[in-house]
Amino acid sequence: MGEVEEKLKDYEIKREGEAEILMLKSNAVFFNPVQVHNRDMSIAVLRTFVAKHKEEHEALMKKRNKSHKKAKQNETSVQNGEDASTSQHDEIDVVREKELNQVVDEMDDLSKEATKTPSWKVTRELKPPLVLEALAASGLRSLRYAHEVNGLGKVVALDNDKASVEACKRNIKFNGASTISKVEAHLADARVYMLTHPKEFDVVDLDPYGSPSIFLDSAVQAVADGGLLMCTATDMAVLCGTNGEVCYSKYGSYPVKGKYCHEMALRILLASIESHANRYKRYIVPVLSVFMDFYVRVFVRVFTSASEIKNTPLKLSYVYQCVGCDSFHLQCLGRTIPKNNSVKYAPGIGPVVPQECSDCGKKFNVGGPVWSAPIHDEDWVVSTLTDVKSMKDRYPAYDKITSVLTTVSESP
Ligand SMILES: [Zn+2]
Repeated sequence: MGEVEEKLKDYEIKREGEAEILMLKSNAVFFNPVQVHNRDMSIAVLRTFVAKHKEEHEALMKKRNKSHKKAKQNETSVQNGEDASTSQHDEIDVVREKELNQVVDEMDDLSKEATKTPSWKVTRELKPPLVLEALAASGLRSLRYAHEVNGLGKVVALDNDKASVEACKRNIKFNGASTISKVEAHLADARVYMLTHPKEFDVVDLDPYGSPSIFLDSAVQAVADGGLLMCTATDMAVLCGTNGEVCYSKYGSYPVKGKYCHEMALRILLASIESHANRYKRYIVPVLSVFMDFYVRVFVRVFTSASEIKNTPLKLSYVYQCVGCDSFHLQCLGRTIPKNNSVKYAPGIGPVVPQECSDCGKKFNVGGPVWSAPIHDEDWVVSTLTDVKSMKDRYPAYDKITSVLTTVSESP
């Protein structure tokens, strides 16, 4: 302790939420207080995640028990059937077959569900969600998660810089015994670490300086089925169309300039994450997508389903932006044609606009593809907002995040 106290002279203690970190006095200028918005919002969404995680697990357990009961009942009726007389046999056979088919169907549904739904759902015991912070720096975010979000499992904080990992380890110690047992810091290239831990983390947090593009491919693989990927992009100029060609090289989407630039930035980022996920038979479901301060941040769940990824083209669109006025049109990449009891997939029919804008007569720029499906899950947004309001004192950025969440919940 004496050694720590002596060293403390060189440091300034920064407190945020329930975590404290030590910053070298000479580095304290780099502490960015506006990032508290980002961390508070993430904590709010994480709390919702923990609650939903539990709810979904309970619902599945209920369904499983019901199925098992039914299977048991059928077993009994099969045994009874064997004892019955020959005259009754045929009738019982018919009933039995019907019931067995029903059980087989149900088990089939269940196993289908198990492949597309979270891995935690298949285990009887609910395991507390594991969190990975891929680019943790001094670890403030990881420490706050561990301190403030009840029901979380371990938080793994990575950084590729030796000094940052040392600072992170120092901060873990400084926050006391309960943190030491909950947060781990490792020196690692996040991409290598995520690739070598496939589907291992229920939550993966990517908060880079600049673009997350080089981390997306490994990040979508590290998230467990039904888990949550939280991802920030701060390269707003790129996403908003200042350098369209740079945006295309990073995200695979061409931005067009429009008044909706922040929303387009979100939709480009979502399309890019989906595209990386699709390579591994996975797809995303956005729960919350926000523009705050100077960056965009998306919260998406990741699932695995070879059949669901066929729907991806239906969730993506090209954008026709008039160069003369504000009018723009979306051109969906794909469409479905109903066929008997199923659907056939086909390319979209275009173009959806004439050569010249019907409002001003000018030509259109073509951008995209962007994510054109919903960017929020209404239920998640409402749950998160309600939860935040119920614990006002625990959010240093309460006003900011409630205002963002309220705007989102009121938008169509
Ligand atoms: Zn026009």
